[in-house]
Amino acid sequence: WTFEDLGATNGSFVGGRRVRGSTELRPGDRIQLGPDVVFRFSITDESEAELQQKLFDSSTRDGLTQLYNRRYFDERLVAEIAYARRHATPLCLIMMDVDRFKAINDSLGHLVGDSVLRAVADEVVRVVRTEDVVARYGGEELVVLARATGHDAGARLAERIRAAIADLDVTPPPPASEVKVTISLGVAALDEVPKGAPDSALLDLADERLYAAKEAGRNRIVTGKEAT
Ligand code: GH3
Ligand code: MG
Ligand code: MG
Repeated sequence: WTFEDLGATNGSFVGGRRVRGSTELRPGDRIQLGPDVVFRFSITDESEAELQQKLFDSSTRDGLTQLYNRRYFDERLVAEIAYARRHATPLCLIMMDVDRFKAINDSLGHLVGDSVLRAVADEVVRVVRTEDVVARYGGEELVVLARATGHDAGARLAERIRAAIADLDVTPPPPASEVKVTISLGVAALDEVPKGAPDSALLDLADERLYAAKEAGRNRIVTGKEAT
């Protein structure tokens, strides 16, 4: 393995030494491109690459649902808001919570509750676009961050998610039989929050509307326009 500098104006360095022409790489070498970008070169076999992927997933994913975890989501939220503001593209946040979930746990047990959560998570992932970020924000609370999606498209997406979950038949492990669940959703678009507001304002708005959806009777979405 060799590293070759093709005439970088801000320099390239291996192990702290400027490379002019090319140099041989050894495992563990630090490669620096210009002032800001640093890589470490390492040779991995397939099982090591798999392990690295697992480590990455376990730090960004939730173990029960395999959705992104809250920490990852909070980081993505900051980045997506910054991107949307800079490029003047819409961004929409949907916050949702399983209705009367405690009753499912209490009557059917936590294992059934867990399989309901997994099924709800899978269904949400199935309904949204690949580029949308779906995360488990709290116990039975999920969030979807939809890129390039404004208020009205976000409301339509939320309604599609609501309907898909209401139609879903969850089949928990035997002996439990089929379970039906509903969710309530709050929708908030970035252009609804003031420009100077902190990033958490988008979350707060979606959360407020989720709460309003619960108050209004559950199994519904609340948007900036009208409750449906
Ligand atoms: P509401 O419609 O107002 O949301 O009612 P709810 O019963 O869903 O609300 P509440 O917040 O009272 O209950 C949420 C329950 O979710 C309580 C908690 O034990 C349960 N829960 C949270 N995380 C998990 C989990 O990972 N597995 C299971 N089985 N239950 C969980
Ligand atoms: Mg709930
Ligand atoms: Mg809750």
